[in-house]
Formats: sequence, structure tokens, C-alpha cells
Amino acid sequence: MTIQTTVASFADPALHAHGLYIGGQWHAGAGIPVLNPSTGEMLAEVPDASVEDAMRAVAAADAAAAGWRATPARQRSEILRRWFMLMIEHSEDLALLIALENGKALSDARGEVAYASEFFRWYAEEATRIPGEFRPTPSGSHKILVDHEPIGISVLITPWNFPAAMATRKIGPALAAGCTVILKPASETPLTAYAMARLGELAGVPAGVVNVLTTANPGPVTNAMLADPRVRKLSFTGSTGVGRVLLAEAAKTVVSCSMELGGNAPFLVFDDADLDAALDGAMIAKMRNAGEACTAANRFYVQAGIHDAFVQGLTKRMAALKIGPGYEPTTQCGPMITKKAVQKIDQLVSNALERGARATTGGAPLPGSGYYYPPTVLENVPVDAAIAHEEIFGPIAPVYRFDTEEEAIRLANDTEYGLAAYVYTRDLTKAMRVGRNIETGMLGINRGLMSDPAAPFGGVKQSGLGREGGVTGILEFMEAKYYAVEL
Ligand code: NAP
Repeated sequence: MTIQTTVASFADPALHAHGLYIGGQWHAGAGIPVLNPSTGEMLAEVPDASVEDAMRAVAAADAAAAGWRATPARQRSEILRRWFMLMIEHSEDLALLIALENGKALSDARGEVAYASEFFRWYAEEATRIPGEFRPTPSGSHKILVDHEPIGISVLITPWNFPAAMATRKIGPALAAGCTVILKPASETPLTAYAMARLGELAGVPAGVVNVLTTANPGPVTNAMLADPRVRKLSFTGSTGVGRVLLAEAAKTVVSCSMELGGNAPFLVFDDADLDAALDGAMIAKMRNAGEACTAANRFYVQAGIHDAFVQGLTKRMAALKIGPGYEPTTQCGPMITKKAVQKIDQLVSNALERGARATTGGAPLPGSGYYYPPTVLENVPVDAAIAHEEIFGPIAPVYRFDTEEEAIRLANDTEYGLAAYVYTRDLTKAMRVGRNIETGMLGINRGLMSDPAAPFGGVKQSGLGREGGVTGILEFMEAKYYAVEL
């Protein structure tokens, strides 16, 4: 499938937008090839923004800032609501675009569009409920009045694995709070971001409130924006490595940072778990986006009494998945994002196999064009293998055996990450006890899917800083201002 045949089927061909989107204008350009990971073929080329382009985007965001800040919350809310409706209306087109440039199965892409659009609906609602405070000091000396103001121009940087949802999870709260933004999507998946910008235009987002640019030089371009005193916020989703670099860069001008970084989620199954429910949950937690998710179960710790049945059941389900191009409606497991991603997965699996692990299904990359790695289950994996400590970001399920609750907690916490974790047991008291002891920002109890726009998403340790979504997500884009009132 080519981009031309795809676009021909779009309800609005203008959704296949090319060009930097700055100050409400589209600027054509080229320089960054966008590949179809299902075939390895080129889909399109998008512009390679320079530092000067980025400075133009900052100027456009600045020019729009005062007007957007002064726009009544109800009006901001209605624009976001229209954007939500337009995403729903064009959900099939967006899903196809995501499946094409990211490679994820169409069913996953449809799920992503639904999830992504919900951030606009949620923040359309939250825009009208920005909190404040008014109370006396304990000493009675004066009154404390706390107002929340938009933090200012926000740079939003997003990864390729959820090209729509990671953008709306930032744009939604930023616009609701009254901020103007510059979005820099991942180079692998820019078409979805540009398509959404086009829908934002149709929804009535004023020129300059949302700007989108792609660049082959994210470091210098981002650094230049962070050095500009008009930029007050960096909201980043991506790897912990790049997150660390950006935190250091943002420190130079003390720019406020929200960081959604990598994960290494443990998935704990106790002897008393409902086996079928645990297997269902494992498949969702592992195989959404073919394992290319920050919340993906990366390490399965299974208690000795249920271990063999779990491995057997998981092997059967993983082996039954249909592998194929993301855009084919019957595909359940699409390709990885790049050839390099397949090589990294291959190295992790080979290392585990050399160290005594056994693949009960899968275990080697698939030949041919496209970047395919089959669903794989590994048992007998040493707990100190590299695969236990690095984000796999692929359809690999390493299973480790444990005996006691204390051992499971110790193993679960043996990582620099702390984004998501999963626990399966019929004993809720035990689940909550284990939950209290696991260092994580989010915990699924007998549930393999946790993402919800109404819930606070984020991690502890080196998985990040701050929370997106939920009732506090909007505050990431606001500053509290305290008025000491003599009254
Ligand atoms: P990545 O390599 O860190 O890239 C993320 C974004 O940062 C891309 O837009 C990338 O641009 C940009 N970037 C790279 N180097 C940069 C620099 N020096 N300065 C400024 N921007 C820079 O991550 P990825 O491979 O796209 O995404 C996978 C990672 O994201 C995984 O670690 C995953 O766990 C994490 N993730 C976390 C969450 C969460 O909510 N915690 C959600 C999804 C994904 P280019 O594409 O142009 O390189």
C-alpha cells in the first residue's frame, strides 16, 4: 500500500499535510524520508526544520500567546471539543496513517486514535475547571489566594510509538491551560502529527497557538528553543537517555520540565491468580503495539506453582498471532519501527539464549523486506541477563520463576525504571500490599491495560517527572501564583 492509494481513500485528502506548520501557515519542504516499516519503502518526505525555522515557530507561538491566554476557558474548551469530534470523524483515516508510518496493526491504530482523541475531550472538560484557593493563614495574619496561570510557550517532543496519543496528551492540557505550543514529533512518524494539525486548523485553533515542525537535527533545534527566554516549558516523552540530555539542557535556562521516559514493567503472577485472566492480561500488556509501548510488560515473574501452565498458555497465544503489514486488517502483530530496532531485540534475545534461556516460540528475526520479529516467549531466563534490565520494545516475553512474595518484589524493583507494573492474584489485600512495595507510578491489578486520559500517567525513578492526564495533568502547564491579601 502506498501513501497515494491511502490518501485517495481519505475523507479529506488535505489530511496528508506536508510542510512545517508555523503561525497557521504551511511551509513546504523536504529532507526527512518517512518509511513504511511494513515494507521498508518510502512513504513521503517531510521538511527538515532549521534553527531559524524553530525560532520562527517560537515567534509565532509568542505572537499568539496573549490572545490565547485571554480567550475565555469556555471558548478554549469548545475548540478542543471540536478537535475531538473531528478526530472521531476522521478516525479511520488517522488509523490508516498511523498503521502505515508506524507499522502497528490497524486494530491497535484504531485503539490509539480513540485513546488520543479522548485527551481532547477530557481537557475540553478540564479547561473549565481550573482550580484556585482562598483561605486564611493559620496565624490569621492575612488571606492566601492562589491563582493558576498558563506557564507560557511550551515545547512538546514526542516519540514514534504513539504518534497521535503522545501529541494529544500534551497539546490537550497545554491548550486547556492557555498555553501556545510547538510540537516536534518523531522523525519516523510525522505524518500523523501534521494530519492532526490540519484537523486543529479546521477545529478553529487560532494561528500560532499550535505549531508543528520536523527536524533531522533535534538536538540543536531543541536547544535553541530552550535557550529562548520566551519558552517556559518542555514536555518530553521518549527514552530515558534523551530525557537526561534534555533535563541538563533545560537546566541552563531553568525551563520547567515534564518527562515521560522509558519503562521496564514487571508482570507478577501469583499461584492463586486466575490463569486465563492472567494470560489475557499478559497478552494485552505485552502485545499492544507489538510490544512497542513504554508500559509493555518487559519481565514476567511467575510463581513456581503456576509457572509451567503460564508458559504453556502464553506460548500458545503468542504463537497463534498473525504477523503481517500493519495496514492489513487481519494483522495482529505488525513490524518493528526500524531495522535497528529489530537488531537490538535480536541482540537481547541472542544474549539470553546464550545464557541458558529457551525460546518456546519465536526467537529469531524474520527474513524479507519489512522489519519483522515474531512473538517470542523465553523461559529459564537468568535474572541478570541484559533483557531483564533493558527496555525490549518488541514482542518478546521473558518469563522468570519466583517462590516468595518478597523475592518477587525484590526482582520487580531491580531496575532504574519505575513506570508501570502488573499484579495478578485473587487476593486483593496481597495485591495492594505488593503494590505499596513496588516502586512504580502505575499498577495494574488483575488488569493488563491501564492507560486512561482521566488517570494520572507517569513514572518514578528514571521513568520520569510529572504526570500527564487526570485531574492534575493541566497543572503541568500552569504556574501557581500566590497573592498575600491583607483582609
Ligand atoms: P527517543 O529516541 O528518546 O526520541 C523521542 C523524541 O525525542 C523524538 O521526537 C526524537 O526526535 C527526539 N530527540 C532525540 N534526540 C533529541 C535531542 N537530543 N534533543 C531533542 N529531541 C531529541 O525515543 P523513541 O525511540 O522515539 O521512543 C521510545 C522511547 O519512548 C522508549 O524509551 C519509551 O519507553 C518511551 N516512551 C515513554 C512514554 C511514557 O509515557 N513514559 C510513552 C511512550 C514512549 P527524532 O525522532 O528526530 O530522533
